[in-house]
Amino acid sequence: VNEAKSCLNCPTKPCRSACPVQIDIPAFIERVANEDMEGAYRVLTASSALPAVCGRVCPQENQCEGKCVRGIKGESVGIGRLERFVADTHATSGIAEKAGAVEKNGHRIAVVGSGPSGLTCAGDLAAMGYDVTVFEAFHKAGGVLVYGIPEFRLPKAIVQSEVDALLQKGVKLVTNAVIGRAESVDDLFADGFEAVFIGSGAGLPMFMRIPGESLLGVYSANEYLTRINLMKAYCEDYDTPLKKVSRVAVVGGGNVAMDADRCAKRMGADVTVVYRRGMEELPARKEEVHHAEEEGIVFKLLNNPVKILGDETGHVSGIECVKMELGEPDQSGRRRPIPVEGSNFTMDVDAVIMALGTSPNPLIKSTTEGLESNKKGCLVADESGATTREGVFAGGDAVTGAATVILAMGAGKTAAQSIDQYIRSK
Ligand code: FAD
Ligand code: SF4
Repeated sequence: VNEAKSCLNCPTKPCRSACPVQIDIPAFIERVANEDMEGAYRVLTASSALPAVCGRVCPQENQCEGKCVRGIKGESVGIGRLERFVADTHATSGIAEKAGAVEKNGHRIAVVGSGPSGLTCAGDLAAMGYDVTVFEAFHKAGGVLVYGIPEFRLPKAIVQSEVDALLQKGVKLVTNAVIGRAESVDDLFADGFEAVFIGSGAGLPMFMRIPGESLLGVYSANEYLTRINLMKAYCEDYDTPLKKVSRVAVVGGGNVAMDADRCAKRMGADVTVVYRRGMEELPARKEEVHHAEEEGIVFKLLNNPVKILGDETGHVSGIECVKMELGEPDQSGRRRPIPVEGSNFTMDVDAVIMALGTSPNPLIKSTTEGLESNKKGCLVADESGATTREGVFAGGDAVTGAATVILAMGAGKTAAQSIDQYIRSK
């Protein structure tokens, strides 16, 4: 409440303009200051379907808090922490959402993927009366919120309660359903769905294409995190445990690398992040880097792997790197890393986690006639979410490439509106 009282209630609302879903930030903060937490919750949920999630994982420093007037001369208002507080207070308040029985309109919509874009699209459509079925490839709904972001950053129970709320609204969930393999998009139309939303994310990992990448003990960050988050790989007596190792190298410097290195630390390993640029250029949130450093992760900056070394059993035994120096800025605006000739050295490690970025999986595109993607494998969709195939809408990482939770939610919301218009126009 004291934090909320530090808000100046600026008439121009710069924080709101910097929020991808335009939450009326001063209005929700004002309610917190007046100790009206339910009022604050209603303001939040008017624009955001997942405030307990966004309060925890949004990069606020680049969004609302980055534009907060309080931040010009000191510290911005802790908007993200307030959002999280309001959502958590609501969750424990015992105040049940009014079921608000929605009259069904008889139209069936399929949503592919249960990440933030799919969940938001499904929730909005169900609230409009549509009969929505979500098809999810994994055995659990939530997308990156459950398979990627670790428990210590986003408790799974929070995501599960959002999924449960959707099910209560009458949304059907079919898990272990890989669309494009089990059933195609065309099969969905043949089954009577009148429109399809594709929110299948960007789960295809990139690798470096260096020698040794197929050795045992080389993981993509997505695989490593999925095994821990969804497949209980931390339990040695579970079906799919991770091999116990003592030294892990994580290659990459983004948020995914930080999640992977902090998980590897919790699995008991000494962890080194290998990144080809310097601290200034690390793309991860400063907060995440700070947490990783506090937990004892070692950052080996200005180094780039050139080869992964293996032992006679085919397991990783080390990693060969070359030192780098920074040249002129490249297209991304960051200084280009240049290898220092003759500076190669080796590090002894037992596992390597590649956290180099991801792109959309081509499966749905390649099995759906008329669905176009761009050079990066992202589905082509206009600002309404309409793809190049009639009746098929898309949004989130599947369209933008790896981005953020809030942008994916925004895309799901937009697509729900567009699908409604499309069905009405038919
Ligand atoms: P996803 O969340 O990827 O969900 C897509 C779902 O579709 C998945 O469940 C997948 O299994 C399913 N699917 C895929 N193909 C099929 C198919 N053929 N049939 C059926 N289902 C399918 N963003 C932030 O804002 N803050 C963070 O702190 C943050 N941390 C991150 C940490 C990690 C490790 C990762 C990987 C990403 C992180 N992101 C973060 C990015 C953010 O999570 C994504 O931008 C967001 O989840 C994208 O949502 P989405 O709905 O488009 O896709
Ligand atoms: Fe409050 Fe900061 Fe927004 Fe101004 S910019 S209304 S101080 S949160």
